[in-house]
Amino acid sequence: MAQLFISDLHLHESRPDLTKAFMDFLANQAVDAEKLYILGDFFDVWLGDDHDTAFTRQIIDALAAFPVPIFLMHGNRDFLLGDRFCRATGAQLLDDPGIVDLYGRPALLMHGDSLCTRDEEYMAVRQVLRDEKFRQEFLQKPIEEREAFAAGVRDKSKAHTRETAADIMDVTPSEVVRVMDEYAVDLLIHGHTHRPDVHRVTLEGGAGGTRVVLGDWDTRGWVLRVTADDMQLNAFPITAA
Ligand code: MN
Repeated sequence: MAQLFISDLHLHESRPDLTKAFMDFLANQAVDAEKLYILGDFFDVWLGDDHDTAFTRQIIDALAAFPVPIFLMHGNRDFLLGDRFCRATGAQLLDDPGIVDLYGRPALLMHGDSLCTRDEEYMAVRQVLRDEKFRQEFLQKPIEEREAFAAGVRDKSKAHTRETAADIMDVTPSEVVRVMDEYAVDLLIHGHTHRPDVHRVTLEGGAGGTRVVLGDWDTRGWVLRVTADDMQLNAFPITAA
């Protein structure tokens, strides 16, 4: 048995190849899993659970029909996923950060954006967008207005990414150590940075830890497969739909 971790699929109706890759992933790689964790940015944009389209319905139906328990964390693109989505799919929303038990080893799960503390401009925007009052008010607005706002945020984010040094867009090493120490774990799994890798971390007091960064899905998909005695970060090709 295995527990699987994916993130940053950025599913969008303009990318039928990614939707197909996810459907294939469910049918071929995940169907025998014990649990499936999706650590944020599953969708490229989520305007609210009331935004019902053929695309969202297709994904919701696939998750609802899937026999494996699914655990979902918000990303910076889909933090408006809510109770209605969870009821419709059977997925359980996880806190960020959240601790899970991996065969006796506690692991800290995060989306990863909150680790990028050197990106002060982003951290300020994050605080505004994640505010509960903002969320409530935003979800009252007509879909067209939400769509326009989301497009504006995306454009600003793209410009910001172009203008900001690559190391600032990555996690802050000291923040990784701080959060792993706070939660007393030697294993951290996150996505967001689109830099899939397995890193050794030196924790407070000198002990060794592991930070697994999941990959984004584009021309390749990524999955972390954890069993009782093994942990593997694997890539697989994504072909045209
Ligand atoms: Mn992200």
